Amino acid sequence: MGLLTLGTPLTWSETIPYIDYIKEHGIDQFINLYCRYKNREDAQLKWGDEIEYSIVKFDHANKKVRVSLHSDEILTQLDKQISENKKNHKENLSLWAPEFGGYMIEGTPGAPYGSSLECIDVVEKNMIARRNEVRKVLSNDEALLSITFPSIGAPDFTSPPVKIKAGQASESIFFSDDAVNYHNKRYITLMSNVLQRRGERLYSNVPIFKDKNTLSPFKEHFSDEESNKNSIPDHIYVDHMGFGVGMCCLQVTFQTVNVNEARWLYDQLTPITPIMLALSASTPIFRSYLADVDSRWDVIADLCDDRTPDEKGEAPLKDNHVIINKRRYDSTDCYIHPSSAEFNDIPLELDKKSYEKLIKNGIDEHLARHIAHIFIRDPLQVYRERLEQDVTTSMEHFETIQSSNWCNMRFKPPPIESPEIGWRVEFRATEIQLTDFENAAYCCFLVLLSRVLVSYNLSFLIPISQVTENIKRAQKRDAVHNQKFYFRNKLTKCLSSDENVQQVKNGNCHGYEIDEMSINEIINGDGKEFVGLVPLIRQFLDGANIDVESLFKINRYLDLIQDRASGKIFTLAHWMRDFVRSHPEYQYDSHVGDTIVYDMIKTMNEITQGKKHDESLLGKAPPVVKPKEVENAAKKEQRPKLLCYEDALNGQKF
Ligand code: ADP
Ligand code: MG
Ligand code: MG
Ligand code: MG
Ligand code: MG
Repeated sequence: MGLLTLGTPLTWSETIPYIDYIKEHGIDQFINLYCRYKNREDAQLKWGDEIEYSIVKFDHANKKVRVSLHSDEILTQLDKQISENKKNHKENLSLWAPEFGGYMIEGTPGAPYGSSLECIDVVEKNMIARRNEVRKVLSNDEALLSITFPSIGAPDFTSPPVKIKAGQASESIFFSDDAVNYHNKRYITLMSNVLQRRGERLYSNVPIFKDKNTLSPFKEHFSDEESNKNSIPDHIYVDHMGFGVGMCCLQVTFQTVNVNEARWLYDQLTPITPIMLALSASTPIFRSYLADVDSRWDVIADLCDDRTPDEKGEAPLKDNHVIINKRRYDSTDCYIHPSSAEFNDIPLELDKKSYEKLIKNGIDEHLARHIAHIFIRDPLQVYRERLEQDVTTSMEHFETIQSSNWCNMRFKPPPIESPEIGWRVEFRATEIQLTDFENAAYCCFLVLLSRVLVSYNLSFLIPISQVTENIKRAQKRDAVHNQKFYFRNKLTKCLSSDENVQQVKNGNCHGYEIDEMSINEIINGDGKEFVGLVPLIRQFLDGANIDVESLFKINRYLDLIQDRASGKIFTLAHWMRDFVRSHPEYQYDSHVGDTIVYDMIKTMNEITQGKKHDESLLGKAPPVVKPKEVENAAKKEQRPKLLCYEDALNGQKF
């Protein structure tokens, strides 16, 4: 989760006197950086993924599985390996970072991927190699899984067991602060400062999946008053940041050629985030109960919510507070490219001082609004030794606010300490997938879609309020089949802001309408005017100079996305729910007992390692790639006849 810094963390009350100072200097840092890099050009796309993993430990004799609180030791060993490699001038295939849970680690490729389509061939291999590196340092009964552990916060969910201590920072009744990564005090400080700022315990209520024998109403009774008060019937009550941030996700960062393209791509990918959230749904179980949602989004957002009751509108405003409509972890509130302005229909809370300073220093209105909007949040991770900073050589005060605005997209300026890295955007909404094949597929889909957008100069913008609504729908159970999403029903070229205004004036809304479409229609086409995102990518590939072997691999990835969208195969969330509901020990009461979790995680581990194949989740077995076969297969391959691109655009040429 963002900024890695060491020092003496300040508590919330210690931070308060420095808030204005940090914001002011954070804005100065941004202005300096922007002026330095606003004309920066990078030759090509670079990109990379981030995968968060859970380490689990099996107790085969008792048919139990727990999360293994060993990420510290594992990271130390991985770092040793990285230093060795550096010493011996050997290439590092992966980089590792701590994550919130003491049972989590985050892995990225050793170096970002480049722009050639052949790079796609490396992605899955790198993910496999990454996993193997960790496997080498795990004990025999441990496993590395790219999943969200279904029993987070259930009794005794860790190995070794850790107790909930009186007076622990979180005040949770389920999750011991000792299950948080202690290697880095920043996580505890962050959580504790969120809690102190908001002035009450963190909690969220996740709708429970009502099965045949689920109690109605479903209501748990807790030993303390506050939990009973905070929990609501027919919901699973959770009360620690670990229930959200202790879950795993998949992120992709793209470096763009310049700041203009970064702003544009940030906007264009924003309406895609809910689509990916629904397509990647993999979180149907919370605290060992089946939920009526398939994704972690709202839960994590609640558990990072640092707003005070008056900021939420639940009490009269005080202390020059203003009403803040969204949580710190939530969907993006505004587009940032000038051509997108007319789609910004959510009133934005701005930090006025920051806004004025940005404008005074030549930052345009659209970017200034975005930065001043993220600066309505207070800093939560401040280090005593690092208060004084040279605004020309450090970005830390900016980063402390930027990296704790956890949105579906993030606009990342070039890091001051790494001159080789340019302007970037991060796609943050995808849920983690079980296998490297799937994670590679989701990443490749996104990277190809981004190339299509840039190359064809298309626009998928819809009013930003509709993106917010789509994110809500995307989390519902089986959203991929049951929900409809606001989306443009026709491919349209991206217009400048003047052209946009002109079109609206003429009553010609760009020749498209915003429809409510299913994921299947969005991904595979609606059989009418909308060609579908994957057929569009396939068309792009038809025109690209790409070797047959890479194309074959890409097609497997695109097939997976298409089959998930059409319902031919399941999302992981659906698969997990089915697994539970067909387990002989399941009582149809929503509770996912130890043995079920054990059997499920064991099966998941076998699938991850390629020892088992489940067609309902992955489709046909990923083929062994042999050059001759590939060629034949590519020749024989039956693809639906596509509209030629110009046709799809209704004769528009560009
Ligand atoms: P954060 O946690 O702040 O999102 P990470 O360092 O964990 O950042 O991940 C950054 C990701 O960005 C990695 O996947 C990396 O490969 C990718 N990336 C994209 N472009 C670049 C670039 N130019 N240089 C380095 N990394 C890049
Ligand atoms: Mg992370
Ligand atoms: Mg991070
Ligand atoms: Mg990261
Ligand atoms: Mg990230």
